[in-house]
Amino acid sequence: MERQFPLAFDLDDTIVDHLPQRRLLAARFGLAHLSDAVLYHMRDVSLAPETVRAFKRALYGPLSRHAPPLPGAVAALRALTARLPAVIISRRAHGAPHARAWVRRHLPFFPPDRVHFVHRDEEKSAVAHALGVRVFVDDSPEVLRHLPRPVRKVLFDRFSLYQNADTEWERVASWDALLTTLS
Ligand SMILES: [Mg+2]
Repeated sequence: MERQFPLAFDLDDTIVDHLPQRRLLAARFGLAHLSDAVLYHMRDVSLAPETVRAFKRALYGPLSRHAPPLPGAVAALRALTARLPAVIISRRAHGAPHARAWVRRHLPFFPPDRVHFVHRDEEKSAVAHALGVRVFVDDSPEVLRHLPRPVRKVLFDRFSLYQNADTEWERVASWDALLTTLS
């Protein structure tokens, strides 16, 4: 693998906005009473593990092709990738074809061979290392935790869930803020 990609982005809930599809599924699963934030992290105590699994399977299946980009994501990615080579590193174990189709449709300027898929969060670190990534943007603290220190870690925290976490990472809540942070 070439070592020339300073910027790395997660795909799901960092670039792709799965919230509209989460709300659709919530209605279907009888979970419409849950807040957006709970539907986002699916860690509510009332949720049975098999419900969470079925929900996520549906979310990252064909339905995911209809998810919109997060506000400002496409324009910001276009601007950032015009300046620096970037990769997308995604943990879509089974939904990779849907993810590729989504990137083709919404990010036509993003070369398909710069979209990488892993099966577990920890694997993102190895791929980032092999690609020479210096800045990693992800909505998962778990992913950022596994990255080695020299990587600049940016947490995409649109629901402000981690404001009290110790700050091994910079935190942004929108793509406008991210663009400012990275400019
Ligand atoms: Mg994500």
